[in-house]
Amino acid sequence: MHIELPQPKRTSHAASPPPAETPKTDDLERYRQASNALESTQSEIEEIEHTEAFDVFKKQLDLLRRRLLNSPQSLRQIFIDDGAQAIVWEFKQEALGADFTRTLWNLLLRDDDMSATLLRFIWNVPLKFKRKFIVAIDAYLSDRYPMFKGLSKGWPGQNGIPPYIRSPEERARDFELVNQGYLGYMNLGYSAREVDLFVWLETLRDKQCEDRACELGVPRPGREPKGGCPVKIHIPEMIRLLGTGKFKDALELIESCNPLPDVTGRVCPQELQCQGVCTLTGRPIEIGQLEWFLPEREKLAHPGARGERWKNFVSPWTKAEKPPIAVIGSGPAGLINAYLLAAEGYPVTVFEAFHELGGVLRYGIPEFRLPNSLIDDVVAKIRLLGGRFVTNFVVGKTATLEDLRDNGFWKIFVGTGAGLPRFMNIPGEHLLGVMSANEFLTRVNLMQARLDDYETPLPEVKDKQVIVIGGGNTAMDAARTARRLGGIVTIVYRRTRSEMPARVEELHHALEEGIELKVLRSPREFHSEKSAHVCHAILDVIELGPPDASGRRSPVITGRTETMPVDLVIMALGNASNPIIKDSEPDLKTSKWGTISIGGGSQKTSLEGVYSGGDATRGGATAVLAAGDGQAAAREILGEISFGKAEIEDLVERALRYTDLAQSPQTIVKKVNLAEGIVEMRIKSPLIAKAAQAGQFVRVLPTPKGELIPLTLADWDARAGTIDLVIQAVGASSIGINAMEVGEAFTGIAGPLGQPSKLHRYEANETVAFAAGGLGLPPVYPIMRAHLSLGNHVTLIAGFRTASMLFWTGEGERIDKLAQEFPGQLDVIYASNDGTFGVKGFVTTPLEELLKSAKVGKARKVAEVIAIGPPLMMRAVSELTRPYGTPTVASLNSIMVDATGMCGACMVPVTIDGRLVRKHACIDGPEIDAHIIDWDKFLPRFAQFKAQEHASLVKHGADSAQAHA
Ligand code: FAD
Repeated sequence: MHIELPQPKRTSHAASPPPAETPKTDDLERYRQASNALESTQSEIEEIEHTEAFDVFKKQLDLLRRRLLNSPQSLRQIFIDDGAQAIVWEFKQEALGADFTRTLWNLLLRDDDMSATLLRFIWNVPLKFKRKFIVAIDAYLSDRYPMFKGLSKGWPGQNGIPPYIRSPEERARDFELVNQGYLGYMNLGYSAREVDLFVWLETLRDKQCEDRACELGVPRPGREPKGGCPVKIHIPEMIRLLGTGKFKDALELIESCNPLPDVTGRVCPQELQCQGVCTLTGRPIEIGQLEWFLPEREKLAHPGARGERWKNFVSPWTKAEKPPIAVIGSGPAGLINAYLLAAEGYPVTVFEAFHELGGVLRYGIPEFRLPNSLIDDVVAKIRLLGGRFVTNFVVGKTATLEDLRDNGFWKIFVGTGAGLPRFMNIPGEHLLGVMSANEFLTRVNLMQARLDDYETPLPEVKDKQVIVIGGGNTAMDAARTARRLGGIVTIVYRRTRSEMPARVEELHHALEEGIELKVLRSPREFHSEKSAHVCHAILDVIELGPPDASGRRSPVITGRTETMPVDLVIMALGNASNPIIKDSEPDLKTSKWGTISIGGGSQKTSLEGVYSGGDATRGGATAVLAAGDGQAAAREILGEISFGKAEIEDLVERALRYTDLAQSPQTIVKKVNLAEGIVEMRIKSPLIAKAAQAGQFVRVLPTPKGELIPLTLADWDARAGTIDLVIQAVGASSIGINAMEVGEAFTGIAGPLGQPSKLHRYEANETVAFAAGGLGLPPVYPIMRAHLSLGNHVTLIAGFRTASMLFWTGEGERIDKLAQEFPGQLDVIYASNDGTFGVKGFVTTPLEELLKSAKVGKARKVAEVIAIGPPLMMRAVSELTRPYGTPTVASLNSIMVDATGMCGACMVPVTIDGRLVRKHACIDGPEIDAHIIDWDKFLPRFAQFKAQEHASLVKHGADSAQAHA
């Protein structure tokens, strides 16, 4: 640094006119004097320069220079510190003034070092000073921020800044997010920094309680603590970081234990967990809102940050240092488990039965409460950690747990949820227009049925009387969804409002949106008039009796009833466990309710190396409890690894190969036009081909916007890894499938589903008769082959409409080949409605002859009849065989959505011991004892979406083609 030396003082003469060329005498005198003065000053300076004081001054100057060069901020800090002193002084006054408050707020808005210091300063001052600040912003800033108006009243215990919630009038008409959180204020024009400050203001209410009840719960002797955070987020620490402006640190803290804060923050029952035990009893801190604010803020502020954060993370599949883990189910339990294990360096594959990921979060909870993009975010995070996902994979059907282990997976976490909807088994539940909330919500949420360009049909809701039975979150979601679709909605609940298990916020929002609530009522039966469609409900009037096992007062029927007109009934009575995995694993211990048994404070099941949690072990519970279980299981799985390097590498290689195989595209490799509108397709699907058994079917999703439809397996080749399907173009979806060509891939095929055929070895003088109508021949084919392989004699009666619809009947074709492969074991009778091929008439004609001949000993005894084809034909066969006492099964290709028991759409009303019981074609069938089916009640169900299907055909311009077919 250049230091300027003092200059000699100029006299007024210095400003005189310029000197003449020859110096005058007085000028010379002045020069002499000045020169003397300069010399004496210089020697004075030199003298000073050698003093100690000057030395210190120089050192200080030097230090300052270096500080400024190294950290230009430091000088500002001096001013800030001074400013802080001034602010302290202001806070010590009786009240903060208007100008000071506005200036302070403007400084806070600057989002710089000074504002950071101020945030910390106010966070750290005693409560009475904070209160002064709140009083001031209420008084002087509420014209600019209406949410500050009245804030100081009862602050901090009774009052805080609420999240932004859209008005009921606006939101009840669309599926946009209702509670938009603090970031929702940006829609009103507030800046991101202002939103940060709203959040910070909320944290100022916090007391940093030492016992951390919000995080740890309130201890209860001999019982689990009350409330607290099941995923153990360090809540007070998170609030402290927010209160001191360290937003990024707060997010990292949360994500270290919970990869789905923007999910749990929105759907957790906070009133029972963290906020329920908050010591601010009047108005607890908005912990849930803070939790989901952080990841959303990060996305907004640093859109690419997530990728950046993990960009150097080497996939555990590549590192191959730890053995692979299989996670079954992609609900919150499975996702958190996969995330934590992948982050710890384990190669993880998540196997999911649906074509989309997220479990209930996706198919159950609607977009207006939990946008699907948030689930996508969680999945993306897991993928960044190397996690892999296989969809359309039903464990227990596509493969067993044992298969997964055989293919390299060391440990398994089962997070399959509790997807089986409960019904009441009351009269009229089979009627059209009565459905489970799972089915209704899956149609809307997963299959996007409300959108014009998606194929899945939806019941008519607009201006219809809709009742939703139940009082939990599912009931609220179903009711609010129906409301948005234009329904006039009433929730019917058997207890009172205070006993309703739904999140308080959801009930409150539902009522605000114009949904009626009828409490102390429960449906007794549903009625129809002329059609098979429900038209009114008889409700029992209920009173509350003494508390039951749940601790809530039990509903007692009074004997009084009420009648209510209804067009659509949605049953939201909770879910039970899906039996698929349990049925495939006889050694897996389950409770009497069907939930997977774990115990002793561990997530371990009765199977070695298999862990479970979430709704699969608890029955229908909550997302955050599921996440907590997934987390706990991950911690247990992290134990000691007893393999050497080579062994681990081998496991990783095998598991990777299997994962790749399981998610390989299901491509059409061959297509044959069998008859008009009927095609046969050979599709690459190695795992289904390996697991397939006679009688089973697959669930097909042809395109991303298509419809899930069941198709029975016509054949498969385990070695070639292919399956064969035969499809008749009858609706928009099947027309679309038939138009697909070789080389195209299905969006997803899941299976093999349903129970395989029950095969018995019969006597030599007996025959197994098959009645196959039209498209019944392909599904009959593998079952016939299985019986023939077993040594049984088979009689095939195959009927066609007319000769032009024939397929597989010619020389060298499938039936002929089968007859040649099993000589003397197969009799074939063909029939056609118009007599153009085989005997004239329906399949019942030759079948009746066979039964009659057998009765008089002129033909083999008919051991059993298997009917597959149009529903009316199957009914006719059932009625024909009943008087003969011949066991008869019908293979039912009912309307289904998920085809794994989750929706209940494929209900089959059957009578057992005089009682009407509900069976489901997808899990109890597809083959069901034809003699116990209540055909009068069952047949109309095939026409449930006739109007919608017709509308779809018209939309695709395919109605005339279909009429022709
Ligand atoms: P799930 O979310 O059920 O996920 C299980 C997954 O496993 C599914 O994707 C399923 O397809 C898959 N699967 C099943 N079987 C197999 C198999 N054999 N092979 C492969 N995959 C399989 N909780 C809250 O906390 N707050 C709420 O607001 C809330 N609202 C809800 C609203 C609705 C409509 C419903 C139905 C539930 C709601 N819940 C709520 C409950 C909460 O969603 C569940 O407790 C939670 O999702 C359970 O998580 P999970 O991971 O155990 O199972």
